[in-house]
Amino acid sequence: MQPVPFFVAGRPDHGEGDLTVHHPYDGRTVGRTTFATPAQVDAAVAAATRVAAEAAALPAHARAAALDHVSRRLAERATEIAASITAESGKPIRWARAEVGRAASTFRWAAEEARRFSGELQRLDTDPTATGRIALVRRVPKGIVLGITPFNFPLNLVAHKVAPAIAVGAPVVVKPAPATPLTALLLGEILAETDLPEGMFSVLTLPDERAADLVADPRLPVVSFTGSGPVGTAIRRAVPDKHVTLELGGNAAAVICEDWNTDGDLTFAAHRIATFANYQAGQSCIAVQRVYVHEWLYDAFLPRLVAAVQELRTGDPASELTDVGPLISVEAAERVEAWVDEAVTAGATIEVGGRRDGATYPPTVLTGVPPTAKVCTREIFGPVLVVARVEDDEAAFVAVNDSAYGLQAGVFTHRLDVAFRAGRVLEVGGLIVGDVPSYRADQMPYGGMKGSGVGREGLRSAMEDYTESRVVVLTGV
Ligand code: NAD
Repeated sequence: MQPVPFFVAGRPDHGEGDLTVHHPYDGRTVGRTTFATPAQVDAAVAAATRVAAEAAALPAHARAAALDHVSRRLAERATEIAASITAESGKPIRWARAEVGRAASTFRWAAEEARRFSGELQRLDTDPTATGRIALVRRVPKGIVLGITPFNFPLNLVAHKVAPAIAVGAPVVVKPAPATPLTALLLGEILAETDLPEGMFSVLTLPDERAADLVADPRLPVVSFTGSGPVGTAIRRAVPDKHVTLELGGNAAAVICEDWNTDGDLTFAAHRIATFANYQAGQSCIAVQRVYVHEWLYDAFLPRLVAAVQELRTGDPASELTDVGPLISVEAAERVEAWVDEAVTAGATIEVGGRRDGATYPPTVLTGVPPTAKVCTREIFGPVLVVARVEDDEAAFVAVNDSAYGLQAGVFTHRLDVAFRAGRVLEVGGLIVGDVPSYRADQMPYGGMKGSGVGREGLRSAMEDYTESRVVVLTGV
């Protein structure tokens, strides 16, 4: 199998060593690439530095045209790209197709934002001494954006770094996860078809320690990282003077409130929770991990949830019928198994699931879990749900907040007052009312409190992050 190229300043290139990518389901080799050499990394950053002023001056129509092109080509190549996502990440093919569609929409939306992102005009004559003065506030790129991405959305999370950078006219260097680099390289091929100036983008495959060197490179003032807490924290400590955005992990919770009590309500919530605890085998930072159920509803809800989980089909992610594929590696599945075993030893009951097969772990529901068990307190990143009975909605909100994380939460309620109360007290970056916490749209700011991160993504938020204001005050107007 020939190695596929990475992209240095927009041009395909090969480097050193061997990065072989394996299918998580059966371990077969699905592709190969190489690692960028130090000289290639330097060439990529030098080209980005050279092009930065030209990139910042690119007219909106040129930025939008490039973004629209990427969106169109992702849609045209959707079948091939979805197959690549499935092959390297083990994501079921239906979810992989959804990821490609979502990335196409991210680039399309970025094109829209590129057309309208322009700063503001401020009147200064609110003070008598400033009569006749106005301020023009423009947003200009801070400089080159370094994007570092994890394995669980091999395309979408790369899109979330690259699209806003192009939209504001900032050069971008992106480093995908070593387990799933191939789809990012397909995106590189598409980016290379655009008329963006040379140096505007690079997609570099690097081992972790070399990525740390890139983080420290003073020519890259903006670091946008999505990945695990320990790595994110290490990055922040390593470069305290840089603008660092961290999109880290979570142990998202859903609450079934007292008023969510009809048959239809409970069946709907059970299906949504079963689906979004287990999509991508639970390897999403906003997969449902904890469920708090009002005690009056618990006995009616639990059998519905177990039945909905039992309906999920586990198996080969290439099959159209598969709902739950493997985890990214056997080691990841073994860790999930160890945490479930630990909870069971501490008194938990497995209502369904719980038997590992290689890298595949079945959708699992646990009850009676001590709140100090790792399956509650840490990010499981596997298809495991912890369900607990709470005495009322308020107790559920306290339990949601009893976490080192704070990414998103879902509150099943019909009542506006309960929704507003949850919005006030829950320590999360995003609250989804009437559904699971696992919802994200590119229009909305997205990110976490506490251990879930620093800063916000979402196209608009990222564009603001990648830029700073420059003010021109006009007098006598
Ligand atoms: P990871 O932290 O192991 O790796 C993420 C990226 O960081 C990879 O590209 C890796 O090569 C790179 N990296 C590793 N060490 C580095 C270092 N010292 N310096 C610079 N880069 C380094 O994460 P993962 O296992 O690939 O992904 C899973 C994690 O990502 C989970 O915790 C999940 O919650 C999180 N995640 C968060 C979001 C979000 O938006 N909040 C979205 C998806 C995933």
